[in-house]
Amino acid sequence: MQNLLILGSTGSIGTQSLEVIRNNPDEFRVFGISAQNNWQLLAKQIKEFKPDVAVITDETCLVALEEAVSGVSTKILSGAQSLTDLVKAPEVDIVINSLVGFAGFIPTVSALESGKRVALANKESLVVGGELLKKYLGDNYHQLLPIDSEHSAILQCLLGEDLNSVEKLIITASGGPFRTFTSEQLNNVTVESALKHPNWDMGAKITIDSSTLMNKGLEVIEAYWLFQLPLEKIEAIIHPQSIIHSMVTFTDGSTKAQLGIPDMKVPIQYALTYPKRLKLSTPQFDWTNNYSWTFEPIDTNRFPCFELAMDSIRGGGYLPTVLNASNEVAVRRFLNKEIPYISIHKIIRKSLEFINNDAGLSVESIKETDQETRNYAKTLKI
Ligand code: MG
Repeated sequence: MQNLLILGSTGSIGTQSLEVIRNNPDEFRVFGISAQNNWQLLAKQIKEFKPDVAVITDETCLVALEEAVSGVSTKILSGAQSLTDLVKAPEVDIVINSLVGFAGFIPTVSALESGKRVALANKESLVVGGELLKKYLGDNYHQLLPIDSEHSAILQCLLGEDLNSVEKLIITASGGPFRTFTSEQLNNVTVESALKHPNWDMGAKITIDSSTLMNKGLEVIEAYWLFQLPLEKIEAIIHPQSIIHSMVTFTDGSTKAQLGIPDMKVPIQYALTYPKRLKLSTPQFDWTNNYSWTFEPIDTNRFPCFELAMDSIRGGGYLPTVLNASNEVAVRRFLNKEIPYISIHKIIRKSLEFINNDAGLSVESIKETDQETRNYAKTLKI
C-alpha cells in the first residue's frame, strides 16, 4: 500500500489521479490533498477519500473549507508553506505534483531532497530547476517519474534499453487548435477559441501553451533533463491525431513508439506503478478501422514560442526560468484579455533579452529571477 500526497488535487491531473486511486483501493491510499482555492471540490474530496491532511493554499478560503468539512477527522492546513512542509512527512511514499507553473518548483525540490518518489505533472519544475535536480535523474528513473504523456511514452520505449544506443527521442505534438491557421488568422485568435484543445482535456494554462507550441518547447527541455541526452538528439514533430505519444529511434535504425487513445490516466497510473502495470479501463484502439496517421515539422515562423524555448535551453543558466516566468505572465495577460494572442511571444522574447542574472544557480536565485521576470513582464507594454 502506497501513501500518496496529491498537490493540486482539484485540477485536471489531480481529479484524474484520484480516479486512478479510486479504482485501485488495494494499492493506494490518499494521505494528503491540496487545492489553491477550489474549497468546494476539495471538501468533496476530503469526505470521499478521508485523507489525514488537506491544504488550502489560499488562506481566505480556510474558514469556508473548515465549515464544509466540520466533523471530519482530516487535519486542515492553509498557506503555500504547508505544502513544502507536508511533502517531507514520513508517511508520504509518493508525491503527485500537479501544481501549475513555478509554484510547483519548491515542493518538487523539497520532495526529492527528502527521498520521496515524485510523479511529476509540473514540467515547469524541470524547466527552471533541471540543472539543480540533475542528481536525482539520469540512470535510474525510480525517484522522479513523468506524468506527461510524451515523457511517459519515452520512458516506456526506453525500458530495457541502453541510453548509449539512443539515436533520437521524437516528441510528438498535436499542433493545437491553430495548426493550420495562417499568420493573419493567428492575429485574430480569441481566448475562447484558444481554450479549445482538439485532443486532450487539460487546464487553461497548458491548453494555451499547447496552442502556442510553448508546451512542446517546455517538453523538449523537460526531456533534456529527464533523459540526460544532448539537445540535438531530441526532436519535436507534429502528429495531429495524438495517437503516437512519442517515439525513440535507436542506433540500428529501429524506432519504438508508445501509443493509445489519449487518456492522461495512462501516464498517471504508470508513474505510480512503474515499472509495473495495473489494469486500467480506458478506451482501446480499434485496429480494424481505417486510420491515417500523419506527421509534419513545426513551423517556427507561425509558432515562434517553440524556438524561444530552444534558445533558452541552448543559452542555459537562468534563461529557461525567464522563459517560463514571462510565458506564465503573458498567458495570464492574454486570458485576462489585456494583450492579443500574438503578443505572447513578444513578451517572452523581450524578457529573455532584458533579464540578466549572473549569480550562481541556486533555488534562491531561481526564485529571485522568476520574480524579477514577472515584475518586468507584467508591466511590459507591447
Ligand atoms: Mg504533454
